[in-house]
Amino acid sequence: MKFALTPEQLRIRDAVAKLCANYPPEYWRELDEARAYPEAFVDHLIRDGWLACLIPEEYGGAGLGMVEAALILETINRSGCSGAPAHAQMYTMGTILRHGSPEQKARYLPAIARGELRLQAFGITEPEAGSDSTRIRTTAVRDGDWYIINGGKIFTSRFQHSDLMLLLARTTPYEAVQRKTDGLSVFLVDLRESRDQIEVQPIRTMINHETNQLFFRDLRVPAENLIGEEGRGFYYILDGMNAERILVASEVLGDGYWFIDKATRYVSERVVFGRPIGMNQGVQFPIAQAYAQLEAASLMRWQAAYAFDAGERPGFEANAAKLLASQATWAAANAAMDAFGGYGYARDYDVERKFREARLPLVAPVSNNLVLSYISQHVLKMPRSY
Ligand SMILES: Cc1cc2nc3c(=O)[nH]c(=O)nc-3n(C[C@H](O)[C@H](O)[C@H](O)COP(=O)(O)OP(=O)(O)OC[C@H]3O[C@@H](n4cnc5c(N)ncnc54)[C@H](O)[C@@H]3O)c2cc1C
Repeated sequence: MKFALTPEQLRIRDAVAKLCANYPPEYWRELDEARAYPEAFVDHLIRDGWLACLIPEEYGGAGLGMVEAALILETINRSGCSGAPAHAQMYTMGTILRHGSPEQKARYLPAIARGELRLQAFGITEPEAGSDSTRIRTTAVRDGDWYIINGGKIFTSRFQHSDLMLLLARTTPYEAVQRKTDGLSVFLVDLRESRDQIEVQPIRTMINHETNQLFFRDLRVPAENLIGEEGRGFYYILDGMNAERILVASEVLGDGYWFIDKATRYVSERVVFGRPIGMNQGVQFPIAQAYAQLEAASLMRWQAAYAFDAGERPGFEANAAKLLASQATWAAANAAMDAFGGYGYARDYDVERKFREARLPLVAPVSNNLVLSYISQHVLKMPRSY
């Protein structure tokens, strides 16, 4: 069994790498300092159709698979760019595609495919509930042709660069449902109409990541913007998680390979004690170890992506890919920091910026403890821990 990219997939990789070459390290360095959004880069990705790769051709997308989407994101990050400001535009639409009505699909998917509409904000996490999404307190109450939404979200990313936001809210109180995962619903909030009704507090984080706390007070959302059936929202969100895990893993792997590329070049050139530092096994081994971990994580990621494209539900593979990729990249990030010595801390070498960014996937979009908990309970059938 061997995973090998087809000539068409290699062409995609080369085209994305060529696009990324227009956005050199200085571009990302300046954005990082200003905590600014990479407008030009994301516009370019949209213009060239890469973010519409998973939208079927009948809705104007490229109709490509998860393998190609994974390759696109890996290539972006391996090139030194960042997929995070744009990746949600690729997969958040999956909830509409899988569970939306024919009218919702016809109304939104072609416009998303053309890049006229951005759907890259999704509000699930809340301050009190944390990782336990069934405990969210945001409520949506039906009032004729409307739902009235009250509550709030935290860490809602890319809110300022989205036209639409996918929102999870309780339509039946926690105490009134038989299963805690029931009674939650997903809404498509049209921010072009309701942005002014939402109070936004940007959260400054250790990386350049546009993320926010949101407050809803009697936010009115048309009932026709409910996705699928009322009360089934948690399951719709779960349905999208395999795609999210595979794509995040791919992006993270891209970062890992970037660290390896950067570190191997540096240790071959940097001369101390009269010879390249890379001649020392103490310098080589952590880099080699991290590379081996990345390759193993990458195989798990391909396994997950191929299974996804075959119509399976690769819950274990997708979660394991995210877990292993985040750990392997964190190992690569630390190996690169060690290899660069003091220069690892210097802004102009870019390692410190990527190092900060490499910490996030251990925690988000789902923390690795929760992934291990999923594998323990659902795959290995050990007793439920929560
Ligand atoms: C930069 C950034 C961007 C984000 N973007 C979005 C977004 O766009 N939309 C969105 O909805 N969310 C977003 N998030 C939120 C992210 O998904 C959560 O931070 C993450 O799921 C963890 O939730 P929490 O921060 O509340 O941690 P908590 O749930 O409070 O967990 C804290 C720690 O306790 C551990 N823990 C908790 N319960 C258990 C348990 N039962 N067993 C073992 N360990 C446990 C966790 O693993 C973690 O290490 C973002 C977060 C960040 C930092």
